Amino acid sequence: MRRYFVAGNWKMNTTLESAKGLANAIAADVTQKSPMVDVAVCPPAPYLVPVREALGSSKVALGAQNAYFASPGAYTGEVAVEMLQDVGCKWVILGHSERRQLFSETDDLINKKIVAATAKELGVIFCIGEVLADRQAGRMEAVLQTQLEGGMKDLDDGLLGQFVIAYEPVWAIGTGKTASPAQAQQVHAVLRAQLAAASPRAGSIRLLYGGSMNAANAAQLLGQPDIDGGLVGGASLKAAEFQQIIAAAQ
Ligand code: PEP
Repeated sequence: MRRYFVAGNWKMNTTLESAKGLANAIAADVTQKSPMVDVAVCPPAPYLVPVREALGSSKVALGAQNAYFASPGAYTGEVAVEMLQDVGCKWVILGHSERRQLFSETDDLINKKIVAATAKELGVIFCIGEVLADRQAGRMEAVLQTQLEGGMKDLDDGLLGQFVIAYEPVWAIGTGKTASPAQAQQVHAVLRAQLAAASPRAGSIRLLYGGSMNAANAAQLLGQPDIDGGLVGGASLKAAEFQQIIAAAQ
């Protein structure tokens, strides 16, 4: 059985104080109320340690928003997988559309990062998604397959225990436009089939939906058979709303 997984992507938001406050509020609520749901928060890199301290012994896991594939060395500005693990990260988001679009990350680079993270057993939240023009031109499935195959090239199947895929239609990220539950389910079913062709573990890999998920639409999205959780941006910055999404998963 796949457990639900809800992860908050705080992006380049919060201050030191607000990050600690948000982590405190989420940790207190989640630990009591949602035993069936795995939860993670992914703050900006400078706040990883204080957020880890604020999460304390709660069940909320710490995640990062990026990592470099090389071992520690002369890579100014980058952060290595082992450094994230050293400060308590259990997860890293890789392949996010903002990194693809704003920082020119290619499938090849993302694949190197995924291979490095999984090799060291850091959990990966691997993001894929089509832009609106792809969907409108009927290219959506081909685009997703290219991203999926490109990102997962040369992955050791035995290391996919801590590996989830987040389907995030780019046109739905931060726009308030959510894929309808039926649209999202249809894509997740396609992804599940594409995965099945690539990995005997396909049935156990969790597929998250991301793109303007909020307290109002979470229950319907999470109620779809192939949607195993959410990667939540804007709504994860409000503890009460994030908690409502987790409650919907529960
Ligand atoms: C995201 O950036 O991963 C995301 C899903 O953002 P939002 O929920 O704000 O659309």
